Amino acid sequence: MLTDYHVHLRPDEEGTPGAEYFVTANAERYREAASERGIEELGVSEHIHRFVQALDVWAHPWWRQWANDDIDAYCAFVREQTDLRLGIEVDYVPEREDQMATLLEAREWDYVVGSVHFLRDKAVDMRDSEWDVWREGDPEKVWSRYFETLGEAARTGMFDILAHPDLVKVWGTGAPQPDGDLRRFYERAMDGIADSDVAIEVSTAGLRKPVGEIYPARQFLEMCLEAGRPVALSSDAHVPNDLGHGYDQAVEWLGEIGVTELAVFEGRARRLEPLG
Ligand SMILES: [Zn+2]
Ligand SMILES: [Zn+2]
Repeated sequence: MLTDYHVHLRPDEEGTPGAEYFVTANAERYREAASERGIEELGVSEHIHRFVQALDVWAHPWWRQWANDDIDAYCAFVREQTDLRLGIEVDYVPEREDQMATLLEAREWDYVVGSVHFLRDKAVDMRDSEWDVWREGDPEKVWSRYFETLGEAARTGMFDILAHPDLVKVWGTGAPQPDGDLRRFYERAMDGIADSDVAIEVSTAGLRKPVGEIYPARQFLEMCLEAGRPVALSSDAHVPNDLGHGYDQAVEWLGEIGVTELAVFEGRARRLEPLG
């Protein structure tokens, strides 16, 4: 079994309204690309910040700029006009857990992908924007806060999958990097992850980013496996052609690490299926 769950039906660009992308012909292009690549379990997980309802949870100016679509229209489209699993990619917004839970619990997802992009109001993955956390510089502090926040996200129990778990490395040498053994940062997330029931995403998206590595780093994944967490495999594709990107490499890598099963989701229930 191969899965691709953390998938977007459109690029993160202006001029990509739901009305153009939440259509059967687009979903069929994704299904065809997945079939060609042997991916049986395919789902979509649009960014929550692209839906107007997300503004009830967090009114960050960058979210306000992007929140244009109706979340229920998205859910109805996926359920009624496609055979895809229905997911959503949700930022962990500290202190807004109740509001986010209310938004999520009102809809019938197959899975919820939890992400940390923002540390307070600055993002780790928006280089040279108004919201770039790296303008403040200190990599020791940013990495510490990132992994603390990731652990808190896991601990909320709101998420089925923890997305791109070391996203903080996305820029590689294009952002300030901490020195030495990175396990001191991973440790900060581990209590929350060990106390949770979350699946850890292995994402090939990092291979397409400046860092050029799978998320997460092998040492971090091994710590999660020791804590008993299962693995969910995704590409974070934003176009059909990126589905299953780098999966040959990921499957081989997972084999070396000793991962033999993948998490599969339906109606927010998880089971494990043999990998490959
Ligand atoms: Zn993300
Ligand atoms: Zn994503």
